[in-house]
Amino acid sequence: VESGLGIDYYGLAEDLTDAEREVWLTLRRFVDTEVVPVASGYWERAEFPFELVKKYAGLGVVGDGLEGPGIPAFSATAAGLITMELNRGDGSFATFIGVQAGLAMRSIAFCGSEEQKERWLPAMSRLEAVGAFALTEPDHGSDSVALATTARRDGDSYVLDGAKRWIGNGTICDVCVVWARGEDGQVQGFLVEKGTPGYEATVIEGKGSLRAVWNADIELRGCRVPAENKLPGARTFKDTGRVLSATRAGIAWAALGHATAAYECALSYAMQRRQFGKPIASFQLVQEKLVHMLAEVTAMQLFCVRTARLAEQGRLTDTMASLAKMNATRKARQVLAMARDLMGGNGILLEHRVMRHMADIEALHTYEGTESIQTLIIGKQLTGIGAFA
Ligand code: FAD
Repeated sequence: VESGLGIDYYGLAEDLTDAEREVWLTLRRFVDTEVVPVASGYWERAEFPFELVKKYAGLGVVGDGLEGPGIPAFSATAAGLITMELNRGDGSFATFIGVQAGLAMRSIAFCGSEEQKERWLPAMSRLEAVGAFALTEPDHGSDSVALATTARRDGDSYVLDGAKRWIGNGTICDVCVVWARGEDGQVQGFLVEKGTPGYEATVIEGKGSLRAVWNADIELRGCRVPAENKLPGARTFKDTGRVLSATRAGIAWAALGHATAAYECALSYAMQRRQFGKPIASFQLVQEKLVHMLAEVTAMQLFCVRTARLAEQGRLTDTMASLAKMNATRKARQVLAMARDLMGGNGILLEHRVMRHMADIEALHTYEGTESIQTLIIGKQLTGIGAFA
């Protein structure tokens, strides 16, 4: 059941390539030695773990399996395993990396010019430049397609006006991919560089989930960017959608990482904690919960590996990605609640980790399209009837 690679009940590691197994093991060791020991402290203080950025950069794994200059070559499966392990350690640091590589680097890799790719991707892969992805607005979350931020051409520049909300890394980024409505009425993408006048970002305080990654409210007031900072491949919201569809499958891996942490913590706790003169693991109801958790974690693993293999073959559809995300965050929430229950009073203490993951999964359940929105996307495909509006 367990190997150096962690829980793997159906021997999925046997079907991985040597390179995939190797990166899994590298990440697992990094997470156990560098991330887990510090994660709860940063979470409690709502501080971003800058110390991890340099250490993580040293692994040379940032790029989410994208193709582009300076990006390490990884299969979608390897990229998924990296996401899973980071989230098993800390959802906040994993979200920082998810925004950096999954969203910001992907936007540039999918929609950028050759010059934009050369300028940003190698530096972002080395974590020397930090990226953000600004789509959501105060009045447009699930209906981000209706976003109200505008981009107006003025001579050799575009002028951006509007507001963005929830933007991960928005206060610390070197480049923010801002999605705005052009004069043709279509959603377009722009690279706003650090220090650009008219870009004001403030950290959203008081989060009870993913406390150690900083999300921003952003004001764009007459924010002028050079015309060459427009992403040439981002012409309509469909192009934004291509980025989001790819990252949704990644959120399924992330949820699997949180559920794996829950299962590992609960099993080890149940073996050690004694009540009524025995380890609680000896009671039937406790075993039933552990087995239920194992079944869900294993099912999520099968889902994730299959979606990654389909992505590698260019056969992963948007609705398949939505199904994986919807199912994984829903199941991870259940697994985390069970783990919390199995750990009794200690289950609510940050030092036992599960409570942090339980709080963090709430953000994953919502970001990059809520469970309900994913459900409606799939429902529309099943029935041919859109039920959004
Ligand atoms: P709303 O759209 O207001 O939804 C509220 C509720 O209504 C939800 O339950 C939703 O499912 C439901 N609902 C809405 N419409 C329908 C409908 N038609 N039918 C049925 N139910 C419906 N965005 C970025 O652009 N960049 C980021 O880096 C980023 N990071 C984030 C990090 C965190 C921690 C969080 C919480 C969010 C982040 N987001 C980011 C924003 C995120 O993508 C949105 O929160 C999400 O899309 C939901 O939008 P909303 O919060 O406005 O909720």
